[in-house]
Amino acid sequence: MVHEWSLAQAIAEALKSYSKRNKISVYREVTLSIGELQNIDIEILLEALENIIHEWKEVKIYNIKYEVERAEFLCKECGYRWRLDEMSLSDDEREAIHFLPELIHAFVRCVKCGSPDFSIVEGRGIKISRIVVGDK
Ligand SMILES: [Zn+2]
Repeated sequence: MVHEWSLAQAIAEALKSYSKRNKISVYREVTLSIGELQNIDIEILLEALENIIHEWKEVKIYNIKYEVERAEFLCKECGYRWRLDEMSLSDDEREAIHFLPELIHAFVRCVKCGSPDFSIVEGRGIKISRIVVGDK
């Protein structure tokens, strides 16, 4: 809960400084890209963000949408790239990864060569992926 609110605050600040820099005051739509491995309650995040933005006088945003960015892993050993659903994880493991993404190195191995040495190239964090300027 606190986590979602501080994230919402950070996103709001980013939008505010973007608006200032680009002299934009009205947005028809802002789309967030939320990593599949990001452990947050999206509903709470959006609600928090809408509450913060609602208070603004100088910037107006009509719609906030989101899309989930799928996780992608890259093996440092063999260079193979793969997605979460290519792995045979138990439901418990899958849940653990969503709940505590830091645990990912305990469960995940390269699906091709079995190496534990991989990096997460996508599916983490939150980005502002799309902005549509203008009225409703
Ligand atoms: Zn590999």
